[in-house]
Amino acid sequence: MKAIDSHAHLEELKDLESCLRRAASRGVIAVVTAGSDASSSRFALEARSRFKELGIQVFGAIGLHPWSLRELGRDGIEEALDFIEARAGEAVAIGEVGLDYWLPEARRDGEGRRLQREVFARQLRIARKAEKPVVVHSRGAWKDCLEMVKEAEVEALFHWFSGPLEVLKELLACGYCVSATLALDYSEEHRRVILNTPLSRILSETDSPVRYKGRFNREAEPADVVDVVAMIASLKEVGLEEAAKHCLNNAIRFYSLPSELG
Ligand SMILES: [Zn+2]
Repeated sequence: MKAIDSHAHLEELKDLESCLRRAASRGVIAVVTAGSDASSSRFALEARSRFKELGIQVFGAIGLHPWSLRELGRDGIEEALDFIEARAGEAVAIGEVGLDYWLPEARRDGEGRRLQREVFARQLRIARKAEKPVVVHSRGAWKDCLEMVKEAEVEALFHWFSGPLEVLKELLACGYCVSATLALDYSEEHRRVILNTPLSRILSETDSPVRYKGRFNREAEPADVVDVVAMIASLKEVGLEEAAKHCLNNAIRFYSLPSELG
């Protein structure tokens, strides 16, 4: 099986080289590493040339994550956004970006949410101008994320989507994609999303090094994307190869990766 881990945070992995070697040995041919702030975005852009000899390709997305805003403060946010704007052309996507209304500072409508929306809107404009797709974090803010993406007229991947079915239906009608993670093992919401999404719109990812519940209660790594594909196959009641082929081609198409990967 050939697989692509379409969303990970490689800069946070311990012993990254071993992780990438293990992934390559399980058939993972590429990983898209996403930025969360300026330094992880810089890492993402440099990663492409750094790991070539490991038999796996790494592609970089750059973005400012809603989780990074509080720590960065106004000046740090501006600096990160300027970096993303200046380097957008070199990335395969703008991400990880979006809104998170479950964060303490954004539980209620107010300054916290306003700042998230402002930062997300600016990155959507950057994506639109650079003609790049966006990788969207939408926890607790599913509807608002969808509305903003629609307004921006960009391609979007709703990563690890576990939102309501009405929002899923609308985002699929708009032509957007969702990605599946190891949470398929235990999350009813996430399983329901994947059950209701055609294979032509599902990407596979690990969000490494996130620690999942259930069977994968340890730091995830890109090799685990093979288990994600297997869970997608079993949920959709198709063969492993068929699920793998869809996820692979969807990732290649979404990120405009080299077609030789397919
Ligand atoms: Zn992520």
